[in-house]
Amino acid sequence: MLEPNANVPAFFGNLVFHEETMRQRLSERAFSSWKRCVESGGDLDSATANEIAGAMKDWAIEKGATHFTHWFQPMTGITAEKHDSFIVPNGKGGVLMELSGKELVRGEADASSFPSGGIRSTFEARGYTAWDPTAFAFVKENTLCIPTVFCSYGGHALDKKTPLLRSMEAISRASVRILRLFGDTEVQRVIPQAGPEQEYFLVSKEMVSRRQDLKLCGRTLFGAKPPKGQELDDHYYGSIKPRVAAFMRELDEELWKVGVLAKTEHNEVAPAQHELAPIYTDVNSACDQNQLTMEFMKTVAERHGLVCLLHEKPFAGVNGSGKHNNWSLSTDTGKNLLAPGKTPRQNAQFLLFLAAFIKGMDEYAEMMRCTVSTAGNDHRLGGNEAPPAVVSIFLGDELDAIIKSIIERTEYVETGKRNLQIGVDSIPTIPQDSTDRNRTSPIAFTGNKFEFRMLGSSQSIAGPNIAINTIMAEELTQFAEILEKAEDFNKELDKLLRHTFRDHSRIIFSGNGYDKSWGDEAEARGLPNLRSCADSLPSYILEKNVKLFANHNVFTRTELEARCDIHLESYCKTLHIEALTMVDMITRSIVPAVSAYINDLSLSYTNRSSIPNVCLEPEQSLIAELSLCNSHLWELCGQLSDALMADDISRNMQQRARYYRDTVFCLMEQARVLADHLESITAAKYWPFPTYAELLYQG
Ligand code: ADP
Ligand code: MG
Repeated sequence: MLEPNANVPAFFGNLVFHEETMRQRLSERAFSSWKRCVESGGDLDSATANEIAGAMKDWAIEKGATHFTHWFQPMTGITAEKHDSFIVPNGKGGVLMELSGKELVRGEADASSFPSGGIRSTFEARGYTAWDPTAFAFVKENTLCIPTVFCSYGGHALDKKTPLLRSMEAISRASVRILRLFGDTEVQRVIPQAGPEQEYFLVSKEMVSRRQDLKLCGRTLFGAKPPKGQELDDHYYGSIKPRVAAFMRELDEELWKVGVLAKTEHNEVAPAQHELAPIYTDVNSACDQNQLTMEFMKTVAERHGLVCLLHEKPFAGVNGSGKHNNWSLSTDTGKNLLAPGKTPRQNAQFLLFLAAFIKGMDEYAEMMRCTVSTAGNDHRLGGNEAPPAVVSIFLGDELDAIIKSIIERTEYVETGKRNLQIGVDSIPTIPQDSTDRNRTSPIAFTGNKFEFRMLGSSQSIAGPNIAINTIMAEELTQFAEILEKAEDFNKELDKLLRHTFRDHSRIIFSGNGYDKSWGDEAEARGLPNLRSCADSLPSYILEKNVKLFANHNVFTRTELEARCDIHLESYCKTLHIEALTMVDMITRSIVPAVSAYINDLSLSYTNRSSIPNVCLEPEQSLIAELSLCNSHLWELCGQLSDALMADDISRNMQQRARYYRDTVFCLMEQARVLADHLESITAAKYWPFPTYAELLYQG
């Protein structure tokens, strides 16, 4: 546990084999080869690889490591590890501790237990992992973790890192091309940045152990609304309880040691809900760090008698958990391309990046929706208690007015000029605090970055960032092609901005996303509203999306088809497990508990009926209502069970996903309504699980 005056700078990153450690431990030649490889791509020569491997191994052993693993992110969205020890026989009955350059750079993994979506046929069940030298190795639980990509022998990406790295290349190329048009000759690379704010729930381990749904599905499948929910908002930024505070301190400490820039921890709106925000960094590291954050949240919680729930909607009727992906573009010279500039030229450039973003989100809205589609997130997006799953952008009053004046060529009041002349006038400074008043918007411009808020709390941030990077690469490339040919640059730019803002302003929405009327208005605007995974996931393979990713070498058609299938399958599997758990809980716990209560009520009825003048109304009406609901629940449970048996696995994944949405999920919802009603009329001592109030207000 962290001492009150612990020297954080001294231990921050001390389990990371980072640049400074490499500089100290490698020869000048090896260090500069590695640096060159990171900055301009290309392979490491074997001498360098060997030297790095040796130094990395010695360093890791000093940190207590005995094993190493290629740490990768298969398409399941979690991380995978296969541990090997460093030991090699020394020929005299003992061992040496070794790690060769070959082992560092390339590993083999049996890929057959990871989803491949049909990419990998059985005769080539093995996949290979390759070190991503742009991400630092680190030590976790006595194991040296080497961040790697994971591919099939045919070269297809079987993971989330490979396409993420490809998309970073694509956006960098396109952005540099735009910067050259604005006279920049210095910038060599543009690096997308992300700062994902992570929401989560903490509940007592003891309570969770008594709920099969939380143990198996990570969310409650039943639970009547507690008398006090989050109506009072008294948890938000409230004081942090001692057990949670101790958890947060230890989590920070563990994360800092592995170099995760955990910055703020606070309570969220719902009781038992909290948030961690890191300092932003390049999207590749941000993605690795978010995976580590989620993993550490779970393990540290256990040590405090808690369970960390990362599910998007652990409790019905209570706020869900999401992840806000703050995204911006930074040059290798340290400039943020999404910050409105001070000079007219910088502003023109800013407006062009803004236009690319707006156009891209409008043209590829289905794809953006698709990247956040999971069974869990269906409860947050387009679900009962959620705003419609429409992708829209909130810009704030100032930018709205600027865009309006550009489209209509009308006066923009603040500038005091007749109209805003692109490349000649500067736009006024946009105050940061006024840009984020709308918390309901799926995407908000927040001063110098875009905040994409549709992500589910449990998902990897790789998918959404791959999409944003590639979409931006596409739009910027289109713009570059037009502007590179322009005879009068400012005039062409002015036209391009005006037309882009005019044609794509339908995606800009400043109203309340939770307002019922927004769904209708969005429809009138022609914006897609894809309510569930079964509706949204097929967008992966829309022709325009296949072209987009293929054009920028991020995904091949095969790779996209594989992802589409894997995600649809995981949607079906999740619902299948949830439905089975429901059937089990109804059959073995709820129905017997209610029956026992009915039985006791009947006994009491019989006993008391001989007492003169006694009123038997409570027993009578309770028995009637309980037995009616219990038998309905029993019947529904049977139907649900039959529905699961009737899932026809010979049909394609899209058909099966629709079946789960329309049949299985509907039955689950009906069963829940009945069970929750039963909970509210069953005497507390009979109810077989901890209630919402017990789970959420455990202290
Ligand atoms: P909020 O009001 O949502 O808490 P903050 O400005 O504190 O907003 O930032 C929230 C998250 O956004 C943090 O994780 C932070 O690191 C990240 N962030 C800040 N600036 C940028 C940027 N330029 N690019 C990407 N992420 C950023
Ligand atoms: Mg935020």
